[in-house]
Amino acid sequence: MANCRETIRELDAFLDDELPDDVRRHIHAHLGDCVDCHQAFDFQAELKLAIRRKCSNDEMPAGLLGRIEQCFDEDFDGDGIIGATDDDLTIEPT
Ligand SMILES: [Zn+2]
Repeated sequence: MANCRETIRELDAFLDDELPDDVRRHIHAHLGDCVDCHQAFDFQAELKLAIRRKCSNDEMPAGLLGRIEQCFDEDFDGDGIIGATDDDLTIEPT
């Protein structure tokens, strides 16, 4: 039986369909039992969809994707960088 920590750690791979069947089953079973992880799953699934839609249509607001990546500590746009890159955001003089 997967625990919460494992489930959250594998959530991204689970959503991307990158897990072996046995791990998938554990995660799936845990999501059915655990409200907290299920909510995290729903949220991340929606976020992924939103990002995918955004990336295929128009530009994200500058720096937004970087902030989302930092929140989740994950590299959503596949550029190998968590957080904003120099290209993503223009730094305003303070
Ligand atoms: Zn859980």
